[in-house]
Amino acid sequence: MVQKKRSTKAQKKRRASHFALQKVNMTKCSHCDKPVLAHRACQACGYYRGRQVLEVEAKELKRMEKEKAKREKEAKKEEKKEDKKAKKVQV
Ligand SMILES: [Zn+2]
Repeated sequence: MVQKKRSTKAQKKRRASHFALQKVNMTKCSHCDKPVLAHRACQACGYYRGRQVLEVEAKELKRMEKEKAKREKEAKKEEKKEDKKAKKVQV
């Protein structure tokens, strides 16, 4: 569509008065107390209205694996640091 006439400042601002994003209302999960969108199953534990409706095990497993990998990485880094220190001491 091609613009036919320029829109005035006031027109633009009037239109823009509805552009603001609305704050999302979060409620607490009844099962794990984490913030949850209303009328939606909890993403953390998969509970909705007191019963499990989602399988979140896979997600949790993934997260745990990630954390494990992170920890291993950090451990390796520390080992390297210690090795460097040991070498310095030897010299
Ligand atoms: Zn939950």
